[in-house]
Amino acid sequence: VSADPDSAANTWDAGLTGNALRVAAALRTHGPCTRGQLVQATGLSRPTVSSTLTELLRAGLVVDETRAASGAAGGRPAALARLSRAAGVAVGVDVGRRHVRVAVADLGHEVLAEREVRLAQDADDHPDNVLDLATALVADVLSEVDIGHSDMVGVGLGLPAPITNDGRIGSPMLLPAWADRDPGAELARRLSTPVRVDNDANVGALGEHRWGAGQDCADLVYVKVGTGIGAGIVLSGRLYRGAVGTAGELGHVTLDARGPVCRCGNRGCLELTAGGRALLEHARATQPQLADLDGLVALAAGGDPGCRRLLADAGTQLGLALGGLVNLLNPQRIVIGGPLSAAFNLLRAPIHRGLSDTSMPAAAGGVDVVPAKLGERASALGSVALVLGDPVVTTRAPLAHVPPVASPG
Ligand SMILES: [Zn+2]
Repeated sequence: VSADPDSAANTWDAGLTGNALRVAAALRTHGPCTRGQLVQATGLSRPTVSSTLTELLRAGLVVDETRAASGAAGGRPAALARLSRAAGVAVGVDVGRRHVRVAVADLGHEVLAEREVRLAQDADDHPDNVLDLATALVADVLSEVDIGHSDMVGVGLGLPAPITNDGRIGSPMLLPAWADRDPGAELARRLSTPVRVDNDANVGALGEHRWGAGQDCADLVYVKVGTGIGAGIVLSGRLYRGAVGTAGELGHVTLDARGPVCRCGNRGCLELTAGGRALLEHARATQPQLADLDGLVALAAGGDPGCRRLLADAGTQLGLALGGLVNLLNPQRIVIGGPLSAAFNLLRAPIHRGLSDTSMPAAAGGVDVVPAKLGERASALGSVALVLGDPVVTTRAPLAHVPPVASPG
């Protein structure tokens, strides 16, 4: 949780107080809302919500939208209020081992632009280069959609490591070159904007929850299966971070207490059998030319029996580990993301097999296991969602004083 106290004032400082601030904060957190949803989210009366919306419409901060009601065909169109681009924009930065991706959305939750750069070197080893590149990329994306730097209310940063509540790397062994850094503060300094940092799977969960396969689902687990395996847990519509912020390290759940030692220092972690690093190592025994996980997925899709077997076994192990989580949390949906989600049709049955071996029938039967919808965009969009759902990130804005609002519906 890093914020630059010297950041320039943003549009939220422009005279918003009282009910206007409260309604705007609810719209920023929840996206386009009906009057009824705003009444529920703000605790204000319907006439007060209506008059406040009129005030915000006149100020150009809110626009009126009418959309077909979701669900019932031919249902009455719902009048929605959403924050306009004039209210400001939020930026998300996703750092992976070999990429930096940036997304920008307005505070009305409309995604305006995205851009990605592939890295020649591992991001793990070059934090300064990565932060410089991210800074340049943010400037590029903003200028692409003709938005000024001062319209940026905050930046979310997703990193491939457990992140503690104070924005530090929670397990130095997992991202050694970043371990002594304060990445949020360093990016905030470069951008002169408040920055909030979180784990890549956590922001992936936020992204899928806001825009992807986790929409309209209050209790979900997003699993990012790539080089490592991480989970982002959303409970009652909110990201669950745990006491120090590192909840969801599914890849380091021990499946075999006498198994090989993992890079985290424990034995027999899920990552050692189902993580991308392990899968590639095994696959290369018969396919030495294999470049990356995408290649492995492509071979499996093309019928290679060894690669299919590796993915099936990985699915079973994943299911076994998820079973414990299903027993404890009873989620409604498990969203499989990351590079391996492209092989979801090969993973689905083995995941269910593993799940049913380690979880109660009622809980296992009540959970949908589905592929992610956003693909490689999930973590950048989720980093945007980190800012949208977090008015405190605008340190100097009065929004910080608005009490948290309940989620509508
Ligand atoms: Zn481990």
